[in-house]
Amino acid sequence: MTGMLTHSGDDGPGRRGCGPLIAPLSETMRPLRQQVFERVRASGLMPRVQVAKELGVSAASVTTITSELIELGLLEEVTVPRETDTGRGRPPVALGVRADAHLVVGMKLSDREHTAVLLDFAGNMLASEAVSREPAASDPATLLAASDALIDRVTAAAGVPRSAISAVGIGVPGFVDSPSGHVYWSSVLNVRGFDLARAASQRLGLPVTVDNDANLVALAELWFGAGRERADFAVVTIEHGLGMGLVLNHRLYRGGQGVGMELGHTKVQLDGALCRCGQRGCLEAYVADYALAREATTALNWIYKDGQSVQILLESLYDHAKAGNPAARSIFRRAGRYLAVGLANVVNLFDPALIILSGERMRYDYLYAADTLAEMENLVLATGRPLPPIEVHAWGDMLWAHGAAALALSSVTEATLAPPRELAAQ
Ligand SMILES: [Zn+2]
Repeated sequence: MTGMLTHSGDDGPGRRGCGPLIAPLSETMRPLRQQVFERVRASGLMPRVQVAKELGVSAASVTTITSELIELGLLEEVTVPRETDTGRGRPPVALGVRADAHLVVGMKLSDREHTAVLLDFAGNMLASEAVSREPAASDPATLLAASDALIDRVTAAAGVPRSAISAVGIGVPGFVDSPSGHVYWSSVLNVRGFDLARAASQRLGLPVTVDNDANLVALAELWFGAGRERADFAVVTIEHGLGMGLVLNHRLYRGGQGVGMELGHTKVQLDGALCRCGQRGCLEAYVADYALAREATTALNWIYKDGQSVQILLESLYDHAKAGNPAARSIFRRAGRYLAVGLANVVNLFDPALIILSGERMRYDYLYAADTLAEMENLVLATGRPLPPIEVHAWGDMLWAHGAAALALSSVTEATLAPPRELAAQ
């Protein structure tokens, strides 16, 4: 029988559907078994009934799925001691991730230092290593050899064989397309356009995922830090350049083509200062360390020789500012004002619940002094609401390596628990 509502042309109402067309098996539509696993992993320990309650599914489905996950060796049952043990009845049982199911390595390759952490599947750090290096761009072969050596070091430090590693996450500064593993440009590489994930995977003999360093800080905060409980937050990193990572609805936002969130290259001045990217007026060209160094050599008449460490120059500039040198102070003050412009733009665009400032440069407290915050308040839309909290996390490079490890952990989880997305399209 043909009903009135279904009797319509090919394009008629009722046939086209409405509401967002979310791609099958996309991140917002993960299979239930992956959701169960991730719920347990996030909580540390969780009883089955609680998993069912929080996911809004029947206890029976959770029991079936967790049996499967236990069989796969990914989850285990853990007896939870009662607070007051009466000795009667069975002790309660919760689910936890089997820490030894997989081991991953996360590493950050940077201009001054390479760092790596080795984590188990529950996210515990088993070892970390740092190797300092000469600040210069390397050819791909040298960089790959360095990452290979770093894996040897960190596995040796953890006392595990290299064969125990399931996946590697690598972070580099620059423009990185994470899904394809392609690096458009990075200050650690002397070539443009390099398929880092594929080359590293061949060299290391392991699955490799790559991302830019600012995204790794956002991931580290999302997985291990202040971002765990926030749905939406922004991380702004000030290092050799100025980067940003944005988390929306508990997920890292990378943009339509994977290279978004380049806060450092948003323009704050028409025909302004020259940026490393070749354009003018980028925020980075006023705030990053090379910008401060450029100002220092001009304003203070310091001679900055090629090859001289920017680090040493900046330390000296900072000492002068602290000692009251007006030119040195004005350099930091100006950089702080530009940073305020950048942060106010972030607030006006995204209204994040929290902004985390991270990176080496955050030791220079002039950049986020009361003046900077006051300036920022003036530039944020006056709605009468308070500014989002701004936290400074000068955690150093191990944090970034943790973000890379989170990347590796999620790629292992995906590979193990999510069916390939192509399947859904068939
Ligand atoms: Zn730029």
